Amino acid sequence: MIPNQPDRDTMRRHWVWRIGITLGLGFGILAFAEPTNLVSNPHFLPNPGAPSLPLDFTMSGNVSYGELGDLTREYSGRGVRFDSSLQPPQPHLPRGRVSTRVTGVSALHHRWFRLRIRALAQPHFAVKQDELFLQVEFFGTSPANSLDQIKSRIFPQLRREREDLKDPSANQRLGQATWRTYEMAFRTPFPEVDSLILSAGFSLGIAQQPNAEFWINEFRLEPIPTPTHFRPRHHPVRSDDLSNLLHLGGRWYYHPSPEARVAPAQFDHTNAHRLLYLSDRLEAPFADNTSAWLRDGYYDARGALVKQARFLPENVVIQFTPRHMIVHSHNLPNHPTAFFPDLWRTLDGNPNRIQEILSTWHLPLDPTPSTLRVAMTPGNQNQALPGGPIGVAVNGVVFFNPYDLERNQDAIWRLDRCCGHPSPRSQYHYHKYPVCIKSPWSDDGNQHSPLIGFAFDGFPIYGPYESKGELAKNSTPNPLNEFNVHHDADRGWHYHVTPGAFPHIIGGYWGTADPNNHRTRRPRDRRGRTRR
Ligand SMILES: [Zn+2]
Ligand SMILES: [Zn+2]
Repeated sequence: MIPNQPDRDTMRRHWVWRIGITLGLGFGILAFAEPTNLVSNPHFLPNPGAPSLPLDFTMSGNVSYGELGDLTREYSGRGVRFDSSLQPPQPHLPRGRVSTRVTGVSALHHRWFRLRIRALAQPHFAVKQDELFLQVEFFGTSPANSLDQIKSRIFPQLRREREDLKDPSANQRLGQATWRTYEMAFRTPFPEVDSLILSAGFSLGIAQQPNAEFWINEFRLEPIPTPTHFRPRHHPVRSDDLSNLLHLGGRWYYHPSPEARVAPAQFDHTNAHRLLYLSDRLEAPFADNTSAWLRDGYYDARGALVKQARFLPENVVIQFTPRHMIVHSHNLPNHPTAFFPDLWRTLDGNPNRIQEILSTWHLPLDPTPSTLRVAMTPGNQNQALPGGPIGVAVNGVVFFNPYDLERNQDAIWRLDRCCGHPSPRSQYHYHKYPVCIKSPWSDDGNQHSPLIGFAFDGFPIYGPYESKGELAKNSTPNPLNEFNVHHDADRGWHYHVTPGAFPHIIGGYWGTADPNNHRTRRPRDRRGRTRR
């Protein structure tokens, strides 16, 4: 169901970029401006000569390749599956890996990289000794001998998330296992490292039940452009870290590029990695989060059924005014979704399609708590939160309160594997922690979670963790109130999502929702003009 175009286009961009690198080196003007994926086939396009195998990847062991999920029910794309089921005739426990090579690394004059995969663990995927891992092997100009290697086990993150993010009311057929990001940042150990072999793998599989696979549908390697991103996240930001940055308002800063010292008029896919948010760290929450696919089977902005998928680089565009951050969004999810309408009743038989909806959201830069604030009563009977959008995630998709049309019914069980679904207005939205938001980070629960979006009062919404191993919903030193809000010195007042616990995202507006977000809107284009 995922068409080939995304992959081809990604590859085309990759080659354009490669050529750019070559030219840049030729003229001695290479500057690392863009976080660009160095993996040649990030979405597992098939090998034209051997379509049962992915191009540019090698696979071994209990690993298979193809479309992931049930094509009538989900847009999951192609990828690889690790099968951890015990298979008695085999002499060893299940194991395997998928690998790809990246060359020309030394020409980048860059030492820091991040390997990132998007993956879904089925409910019974199981290994001993945490043997699910990401691995990087380093080679010089001779590809024969590895200079060094590093390996990072990602099973502890998976295990923790199964426990911390479990939601008994989630849909058992589709909604329970969710797509997640796993990542490893690393520095090449020697300047002469010229090529890398990147792998994801597992061993010591011990699953005894069906649904024991681990699916991977995206594989990325990115040079990390800003050294401030590499400071350990718990390291407090020093004032000299900010001296090179341009203040945009509120907690937002622009990290100037060598070419442009002045803040740009808008932030989009070309420069979102330079838009930094200050808490106890500097984050670039919109980086790599501003583009999406308008997939076949969706409606476009005019309500026409999309027959041929199109890439929308400018799904999200951000501007600043003295008082607001303005988010222009097409509201297209940039992650896997279920297929809607849900003809097969995989979820609740949702009859709506996902539509491209042009939206403009005003987020106050300096929010203050409101003295008139009211939290939701059960069922939102007091209508403390409106129906429809109440905030926006950093990928431009809106948040709703926990209830759908039938007020008393929690909408959580109706959601797809990325915790969203379309409304009767065809607006895709989240009712709970959207674990699939594609982001420059993966939240491994080892420190306070990163920012995932904003409520319409301008207060930030963070992921589920308060500190290492502690969920904000369980925090006793700094408990959340009924709004899902608490305060600390680094972040000020902020919301947390609360997986498996009402109100899931926010319990009411802690500040005053900006009135621009709730009046009838005419769609606007990215320059803020009203569209016809
Ligand atoms: Zn809903
Ligand atoms: Zn917190």
